[in-house]
Amino acid sequence: VVENVLVTGGAGYIGSHTCKELASNGLVPVSLDNLVYGHREFVQWGPFVQGDIADGRLLDALFAEHRFAAVIHFAAFAYVGESVQDPGKYYRNNVAGTISLLEAMRRGGCSDIIFSSTCATYGMPDADLIGEETRQEPINPYGRGKLMVETILRDYQAAYGIRHGILRYFNAAGADPDGAIGERHDPETHLVPLAIRAALGQAGPLTIFGSDYPTPDGTAIRDYIHVTDLADAHVRALTHLRRERASVVCNLGTGRGSSVQEVIETVAAIAGREVPVLRGARRPGDPPRLVSANGRAREVLGWVPQRSAIATIVADAWNWHSREG
Ligand code: UDP
Repeated sequence: VVENVLVTGGAGYIGSHTCKELASNGLVPVSLDNLVYGHREFVQWGPFVQGDIADGRLLDALFAEHRFAAVIHFAAFAYVGESVQDPGKYYRNNVAGTISLLEAMRRGGCSDIIFSSTCATYGMPDADLIGEETRQEPINPYGRGKLMVETILRDYQAAYGIRHGILRYFNAAGADPDGAIGERHDPETHLVPLAIRAALGQAGPLTIFGSDYPTPDGTAIRDYIHVTDLADAHVRALTHLRRERASVVCNLGTGRGSSVQEVIETVAAIAGREVPVLRGARRPGDPPRLVSANGRAREVLGWVPQRSAIATIVADAWNWHSREG
């Protein structure tokens, strides 16, 4: 039996890497993407459908045609700053769009969904290691919308029996080790690609957002997780949902942090050249340190990150970006 999985946002960064992982596990990803931020050429595993999660009729046709075993829902806008400037855009797409998708799942009789949540739902936690039980107090519309969907998913489980895997990503980074796909955002705001592009001379110097944090080198600490490790976690979460018939909520991080300074030094070492930098002010809303506990993902999903050492992340990202040109 061929098992089809609907992947919304399958032309995006984490979505496309997850399609590759699904295919290598014998599943058929069907990517639905409106290509607002996605890239058609990233869809290399399974069919592609251009369209929007808000389009209930399109969803009905897709569910009828493919009889999806499950949905993996990546499609969302993900610029925190923009969500502050234009919250309507975020609540409409990320929250209302998800309700449209969930309603189509009900009509189509599909009862398993994996949802892309985020450490942004925790806001500015002071915990040394952030666990799934750490209080969720998001500080921007992006994070609030993701938390709203988590709440909606719990209600849909209780009332309609739709099971969920909620995966709260920390800092996704890196690229497919085979170099087939990678990270390409426009505009790019993320540290690893910006540092690499600065080293390649493809962009101006990297601005370090804050050197006066209460951290060992004064720069902010994040938990970087390789995109192929994230992809692997999605397949594991899907297996868990279907085998245990129980919902699951997991942070996806390594339990270790790297500072901005460490990331820059790693890029310089791998590039074999300096990363030009400027020292700037803190970015509003950036906490000093966000590092995940990863006990639950290990225990429940058997998930052990394989490529998330910062040197491996940067090496894979470097291979991708230096070929992207
Ligand atoms: N950062 C930076 N300069 C940049 C982009 C990011 O210093 O041009 C810092 C940012 O303040 C944070 C870390 O790098 O401490 C990771 O930022 P990114 O935007 O990649 O992810 P976020 O943690 O905001 O989701």
